[in-house]
Amino acid sequence: MSENTRLDNLRSEIERVTLTIIDLVSQRNTLAHDIAVEKSRLSSPLVNPLVERHLRSVVSDRCRMNGVDSSFGLRLLNQLMEESIRLQNEILCPEATYDGHEIFTRAKEMERSGEKVIHLEVGEPDFGPPVAVVQAMIDALGKRLTKYTQSTGIPVLREKIAKMLGRPYQREISPQEVVITVSGKYALFLGVASTLQAGDEAIIIDPSFPAYSSCVREVGARPVHVATDLESNWTLDVDIVEEHINNTTKLIILNSPSNPTGKVLDVQTCRNLVGLTVENDIRILSDEVYSTFSYTPHTSLLEFPLCNQIVVKSFSKPYGMTGFRLGYAISDPDTIKKMARIQYLHLTCAPEFIQYAGLTALDCNEDVNRNSISIKSRLLLTTKLLEKLPVSFRAAEGGFYVFVRLESTRMNGVEFAERLLSEKGVCVMPGVIYGSQYSSFFRISVCQPEDQIKAGLKLMEDLLE
Ligand code: PLP
Repeated sequence: MSENTRLDNLRSEIERVTLTIIDLVSQRNTLAHDIAVEKSRLSSPLVNPLVERHLRSVVSDRCRMNGVDSSFGLRLLNQLMEESIRLQNEILCPEATYDGHEIFTRAKEMERSGEKVIHLEVGEPDFGPPVAVVQAMIDALGKRLTKYTQSTGIPVLREKIAKMLGRPYQREISPQEVVITVSGKYALFLGVASTLQAGDEAIIIDPSFPAYSSCVREVGARPVHVATDLESNWTLDVDIVEEHINNTTKLIILNSPSNPTGKVLDVQTCRNLVGLTVENDIRILSDEVYSTFSYTPHTSLLEFPLCNQIVVKSFSKPYGMTGFRLGYAISDPDTIKKMARIQYLHLTCAPEFIQYAGLTALDCNEDVNRNSISIKSRLLLTTKLLEKLPVSFRAAEGGFYVFVRLESTRMNGVEFAERLLSEKGVCVMPGVIYGSQYSSFFRISVCQPEDQIKAGLKLMEDLLE
């Protein structure tokens, strides 16, 4: 047999094996579908950690037996399980695929056709940027600061952030531990992309900002959801987080104050989580974009210098600079370099004049305090008004939102949000977009003036009567 024929034969053989794998995936998907039908009949939960643990163990053994790298085998298993969950969700929770942006777009269209809409959906504060920030941006444009910058950001801004953040936590943060990013959301993506590879797992605490699962899926990894509930005031049980850790877990994503619940994690929970992640060599991505809107003591992960963390911050919320798309992250210099490399690939850097506007924002403490006081007063008002409605909720400890459960079984969160918009012209977010088990919830954002909040809640009351 010639060398060429032998290679051709081997290629045919590898093609046959590959197609067999695809045929088996198809069989697996059919089984996943049948399992979903049974789960629905028995009202069993979508994910069963014990079943997954067993599967992981047998796959690991089989890898060892066949001389396959078990970390590869387990990542492959995660991808298969993720596909099963996607298929099963279509049967068990069809509204889980509800796109939150859809209702916002519909509200915008209603406005374009002349209807009045009260916006209690988006987390975009009505307070705009500080006057000094606008002036700084105009000055920067006047000086033609309109060039590319380092992908990590302009050194003066990195230095100022490092100094500002090190001070309250009595630690040195070096500018090499800071990267300036095009928005907080993109900093989240960079944190995820620099940590996970395809098939890895990331633990997400639900209800959660939907971008977390999207970022994890975008890099081919698997989001693993740990639920918290209203009854326990959204308290995170670290033992339950631990139960969800396995060899493929590489990241835990935290968000305090939380969007959508307003929960602020207490110092002991943060300390326990840090201990757990250090022990298991897992990274924490701590989304702290709402930290200046904490109405109970806030613990930053920056307080734990030795943990393997990426802390994400943004100019959007504290300074009312949503449209500037400016954020930053703090981590070890190697991770910062990785994140900057990905930013360089996609976007090169944040615009230079926007970064200079950000430099001035860091001096606008009065604006930050005023904004925080204003949101606090709106949260209190919303809490007071909601008490009259047939709903359950916990007063937010921080952030911009109240996460509310409908107590009547007449409507789920999606039906309620859709009717509220079409019949009353008030837009809220259905709860299911923050986690499939929150289908009876909706989220109110308090980013509008108090008269709008009052009018919106009155119309809500009318619909719920
Ligand atoms: N993290 C959370 C929890 C958010 O709610 C948001 C925005 O709504 C962001 C991050 C991203 O903010 P930005 O991209 O405007 O910096």
